[in-house]
Amino acid sequence: GKQVIFKDYVNGYPKESDMIVTSDATICLELPKDDGGLVLLKNLYLSCDPYMRGRMSKPFEGTYVDSFVPGSPISGYGVAEVLDSTHPDFKKGDLISGSTNWEEYSLITNPESLIKIQHTDVPLSYHIGILGMAGMTAYVGFYEFCSPKKGDIVFVSAASGAVGQLVGQFAKLYGCYVVGSAGSKEKVDLLKNKFGFDEAFNYKEEQNLGAALKRYFPNGIDIYFENVGGKMLDEVLPNMRLQGRIAVCGMISQYNLDRHEGIYNLVFLLMKRIRMQGFIVIDHYHLYPRFMETMLPLIQERKITYIEDTVEGLENAPAALVGLFTGKNVGKQVVAIVHE
Ligand code: NDP
Repeated sequence: GKQVIFKDYVNGYPKESDMIVTSDATICLELPKDDGGLVLLKNLYLSCDPYMRGRMSKPFEGTYVDSFVPGSPISGYGVAEVLDSTHPDFKKGDLISGSTNWEEYSLITNPESLIKIQHTDVPLSYHIGILGMAGMTAYVGFYEFCSPKKGDIVFVSAASGAVGQLVGQFAKLYGCYVVGSAGSKEKVDLLKNKFGFDEAFNYKEEQNLGAALKRYFPNGIDIYFENVGGKMLDEVLPNMRLQGRIAVCGMISQYNLDRHEGIYNLVFLLMKRIRMQGFIVIDHYHLYPRFMETMLPLIQERKITYIEDTVEGLENAPAALVGLFTGKNVGKQVVAIVHE
């Protein structure tokens, strides 16, 4: 079957050629019965996530995930069907989500991290998007780190993405006023017309970001849900209100730079008594049951919508992953595997 192999550690922006798609992998479709801890998966959907850029670098200080192994398949979150299992918790025919490899079939030796999918009445790919890590990140980030109050003025960057589109909708459901920024007209239209943001703007078209923020937030920002970092963060700081909160979810504009950009306006943290806090979603999976209980009815009652950008075939997976860093994706980037 096909595999996407990680070639070697990456500097700067990742390129499609940092990965090789091969089709010579062989896999035995039956497991030795005496083992007790193996699960054989037929992979169905793969998730493309910005944190995977960190895994393409040589192991570095402060990282919280292992680097990919040069010469081995890329790994990440996926949805798969169990073809065979010697693990008591999984049986043939089960659908799972969890950590898998970028290949048609995977032999999983540590199935403890797999979650059995209980809800098949929603699109299966939702389990790596709105009901997966992206959904959890939006949920944890907004409810645990933004301390929202009804009427708060909220700004979300990378707002049409996998996480951002949900943060904006959570904030609207909470009774906040929400503005989002994104990198194209199509995305801005989605924010206003599909996700119900009160306002949205294309940050690439603003000569002066500070002036744009003044225009959209004449009374300042209570909550900034930070996805991009860099210049945007710098311009947001002076526009925060007293006692504002900044949830630092990500800083995608910085991931491909050898040297991170400086932030000049940090003194506003002090002057405006702002609380700014970073979080990593993997620390908060104890909230997963509560998250599922909240999300499923919202989806079923159509109180929340989710847009995915799906490419078909493993051969298109490298471009999809790399495209996150140029804003090619419109919504959650998914790879649907085509089995021959
Ligand atoms: P998205 O679906 O939002 O895809 C990434 C988007 O980022 C692109 O579409 C692009 O949109 C935007 N982008 C790319 N480069 C830049 C840049 N230089 N400046 C501004 N925007 C840029 O990804 P996710 O929703 O999965 O992730 C969003 C953020 O959340 C990321 O920073 C990610 O690292 C973070 N994250 C953090 C987690 C945590 O545990 N803390 C967990 C999951 C995600 P546009 O066209 O608008 O520029």
